[in-house]
Amino acid sequence: MARRFIDLHTHSIASDGSDPPEVVVRTAAAQKLAAVALTDHDTLSGIAAAREEAERVGIDFVPGIEIAVQDEEGELHLLGLWMPEPSQRMREALDLLQHNRRKRNQAMLDVLAEQGMPMSMDEVRACSGGEAVGRPHIALAMLARKYVATRREAFERYLGWGARAFVARELLTPEQGIALLRDEGATVAVAHPCLSPAMTPERLDDTLSDFRAKGLSAIEAYHSVHTPAQVRLCVDLAARHNLLLTGGSDYHGRNKEGIRLGSGSGGLRVPLLALDRLRAFRKSQGLWV
Ligand code: AMP
Ligand code: FE
Ligand code: FE
Ligand code: ZN
Repeated sequence: MARRFIDLHTHSIASDGSDPPEVVVRTAAAQKLAAVALTDHDTLSGIAAAREEAERVGIDFVPGIEIAVQDEEGELHLLGLWMPEPSQRMREALDLLQHNRRKRNQAMLDVLAEQGMPMSMDEVRACSGGEAVGRPHIALAMLARKYVATRREAFERYLGWGARAFVARELLTPEQGIALLRDEGATVAVAHPCLSPAMTPERLDDTLSDFRAKGLSAIEAYHSVHTPAQVRLCVDLAARHNLLLTGGSDYHGRNKEGIRLGSGSGGLRVPLLALDRLRAFRKSQGLWV
């Protein structure tokens, strides 16, 4: 049977997933998906291995990235799809994001130490793939030290937004983030726009007009945590703002329980048609596919 579904949002150990990039791709092929994108946070270091495996197993592969941006209203995530070999400018930007991560991670470790939970950065790094290290790895290190019983407890009590050891990381503005991805020739989508409880339909409407003017091309309507009503809202807003649709599971392997590659928490289906339309749009702009 022809493969009809895709997953354009996944994470590997290059950021905060648990699977090596090649395993992410192999899992997508085993799920009989037509295509998969690797979209690690703030790094492209998993792309080469993922692409090689995709060629080997015969699945369509889209190299991607996810970066967080922040304006006065809060944080939103962007997906860059069809990321090329990084330019000098992109390498510098990713170095800066990693630098900001290290600074923030150390500040969080300092707070935790003050609260009687000392840990070294090496311990935290050991819980990661060594690239985009962040809060999920701090949570794993806390678990290893038995400071918490579950990762959930680590986020709820210490690491989550506004919790005791939370320190914000310096993020790009939407304008900077969109331009960074666009200038590489990537197609920019806003990731899981309904995930934040602070995001109302009115605010999303405003955000989309604003982001579209800055170079946004698509909206991630299909996502593991979007309800059917939220999917409909995104599809309607996409039509209204002349944006394309994308979707994915936001798979993190063992690091996000209950989310399966391709099908999310069970009901997710991202149609291949979305990818066909993204490709047609890129071709119309003279961009590679
Ligand atoms: P960071 O990029 O280091 O700030 O960490 C953000 C990552 O932590 C997200 O991409 C999620 O994978 C994970 N995360 C954020 N909030 C939670 C939470 N409440 N519980 C579990 N994981 C979370
Ligand atoms: Fe993540
Ligand atoms: Fe995200
Ligand atoms: Zn993600």
